[in-house]
Amino acid sequence: MTMPSDLSLGRRAMALLDELARHSDEPGRLTRLYLSPAHRNAADTTLRLMREAGLEGHIDALGSVAGRLEGVDPDAPALVIGSHIDTVVDAGRFDGTLGVVLGIVTVEALRAHGITPACPIEILAFGDEENARFPTNLSTSYALSGRYNPTWLDGRDQDGVSLREALIRFGGDADAIAGIARNPARYRGYLEVHIEQGPLLEAKNLPVGVVSAINGITRARAAVTGEAGHAGTVPMTMRRDALAAVAEMIGIVERAGSTRTDTVATVGVAQVQPGATNVIPARVDFTLDARSPDDSVRHAMVQDIVSECEAAAQRRGVSFTIEPFMDSPATPMDKDLILRLEQAVASIGVAPMRLPSGAGHDAVAMAALCPAAMLFVRCKDGVSHNPAESITVEDADAAARVLIEAVKGIVA
Ligand SMILES: [Zn+2]
Repeated sequence: MTMPSDLSLGRRAMALLDELARHSDEPGRLTRLYLSPAHRNAADTTLRLMREAGLEGHIDALGSVAGRLEGVDPDAPALVIGSHIDTVVDAGRFDGTLGVVLGIVTVEALRAHGITPACPIEILAFGDEENARFPTNLSTSYALSGRYNPTWLDGRDQDGVSLREALIRFGGDADAIAGIARNPARYRGYLEVHIEQGPLLEAKNLPVGVVSAINGITRARAAVTGEAGHAGTVPMTMRRDALAAVAEMIGIVERAGSTRTDTVATVGVAQVQPGATNVIPARVDFTLDARSPDDSVRHAMVQDIVSECEAAAQRRGVSFTIEPFMDSPATPMDKDLILRLEQAVASIGVAPMRLPSGAGHDAVAMAALCPAAMLFVRCKDGVSHNPAESITVEDADAAARVLIEAVKGIVA
């Protein structure tokens, strides 16, 4: 049972989310791509909201909004609360923006209670999380840990506009990116609240959950080559059907993802050649996407998939090749911050639940700077990247109370 609340924090968060949802690049739906005019307007609004909450703020050289509340000891390492305000095309209003808004609500609540934190608190609204405009990913948060790759500036959107050109139009400054990098010694931790984008919390009837790790990912391209033939004349016993072999391999992938804890494995693409109704498939190219919060589990899973697929290919007399093209390590969340969040969850009368994140977040980049942790908030039907994305005011309120409680514990 969640402890009773007047829902004022949840209502305040929803009002701020409404305000930010007005900034869209397209009429009638929410689209706020990195460095677009709507992003600029949302950044300006975020900056105003931060200043009204009592933070000193600015928009940095890459378009992130940074606000700072000084602590009793201005030299103590700061606590960062953040997420992103860019969106995908035809987005929901909660993905990313919720985490920024709850940072502001937290500072408002601390000040309303006359609490001056022992250390500074920074709120960050990143701009390039969704990978929806340029071929970059988490570039604005990687800049904080000094990992901005200058070649990212040459990436272009689908209209041919480079990130560098868009940054100039936005009012940013490519020459000042190095200045965004923070000194790790000056930061004690990063907290990010985000909608779950999955169905687990809803299934467990919980408003919030604490992220254990952000999944590592293996991606690979595979090909099976058999032999084409007439679908009417070649007897079943004499076939080397590439697609029938891949059907078996998809079953292997599905079982591999299902039989381990917290793993997922997917064949998302399968292209059949020659692809004719009356021809036995000669070749199939397909992809593998395998994820786990534990890199050793993921590597073992992929190894099992490869050897079982090889065995299936041998039995069927087809050839099988597989070429990994991505091996992105998992990002475990900080153990101490996980415990802080779990204590805060328990303090509002909710059973703490740990769950891995299947999607990437700014916390991946921030974990390179300082200890990082995430709180997930239940979203309706697990839907995200869609206007149907939805959370309740009760859950927003619960998330706000958890964040405030955790922050108080860290900065007291
Ligand atoms: Zn997001």
